[in-house]
Amino acid sequence: MIEISNLNKVYPNGYEALKDINLKIEEGAIVSLLGPSGCGKSTMLNIIAGLLDPSKGDIKFGGESIVNKHPKDRDVGMVFQNYALYPHMTVLENIIFPLTVGKNKMDKNKAKKVAEKYMDLTYISELADKKPKALSGGQQQRVAITRALVQNPKILLLDEPLSNLDARLRIKIREEIRNIVKTVGVTTIFVTHDQEEALSISDYIALMNKGLIQQFDIPQNLYLQPANLFVAKFIGTPIINTYNLIYKNKKFVTDSLEIDLNKLYKDNFKKDLIEGETYTFAIRPEHFILSDSSIKTLIKSIEMIGRYMIIHADIANVSSRIVVDSKLDLKVSDYINLDIDYKSIYIFDKNGERIY
Ligand code: ADP
Repeated sequence: MIEISNLNKVYPNGYEALKDINLKIEEGAIVSLLGPSGCGKSTMLNIIAGLLDPSKGDIKFGGESIVNKHPKDRDVGMVFQNYALYPHMTVLENIIFPLTVGKNKMDKNKAKKVAEKYMDLTYISELADKKPKALSGGQQQRVAITRALVQNPKILLLDEPLSNLDARLRIKIREEIRNIVKTVGVTTIFVTHDQEEALSISDYIALMNKGLIQQFDIPQNLYLQPANLFVAKFIGTPIINTYNLIYKNKKFVTDSLEIDLNKLYKDNFKKDLIEGETYTFAIRPEHFILSDSSIKTLIKSIEMIGRYMIIHADIANVSSRIVVDSKLDLKVSDYINLDIDYKSIYIFDKNGERIY
């Protein structure tokens, strides 16, 4: 178990990059730190690795505080974006090297045996005699991960490890990474700004914004049960549609859209409504229904994705995205009528807190 409590980081220039981070990560889990650029992901990773000191708070591995330990004594394996392989060494030498230095160093023969065992596991045995520059990006990635794993770390930290790979390879390698770390059973923290990557690789995701965790949950819940408006907007493609409506006389209204309170499911409300307040309705593009119903709009453009297509149209004067079956015979300038799947929508109050 890794426990991070009240972690805070203020940089020397006074910038508070982490405000108050609390996180419990169970043994063997893969956790993604996800969030937009600048939200504090790397700061957090570097503090766990010991490359940065926190301003406040504590980190425990298996009940033992590690914040005052030297990075070398933390049993942390780290793989950076650029892999940082030694260019003059072969793959085998790269992987043996960390085993032959430091406090737990072993003799060359034993190190070779350990290295070969892990290289077998990560399917890179046949690359043993190659130099890094002769490898593809995906192969370098596997070598870097293997070099981190041979040291039998308590925790493996991966900093945007797929960002240098092309789109198809990213999908393949992220499956491989998941298989490898699950086989070894090492607790893994994976930093990414790519929601799809986080959703596919993780057991849990910590979605961060402005130095705070917005939601720590299983991938499915981040999509289906967003805790707040930030999460709803960050997770899901195409991006969720949002509309600001005022609550008056049991109706939510704007100039061009009116939603009757009795269309909504009473049991879904987590809070009482306040008369005259503005609420944000968030409707995923897949939660509009083509029907003969009340909302009529003109198709501005159509994006063909494959399994589905995205219709761009204005709803309540907001440029909106609507996902429909790609087999439908629709074209630009057609009018469509829409209804809303009221069971699946979310409503947020003016602070972005979810109330429905
Ligand atoms: P992320 O990895 O999520 O992109 P970082 O952890 O790198 O975010 O940075 C978080 C915030 O802290 C950013 O606003 C960044 O500009 C700021 N920051 C990072 N390093 C420093 C530093 N050495 N001094 C001051 N501010 C920093």
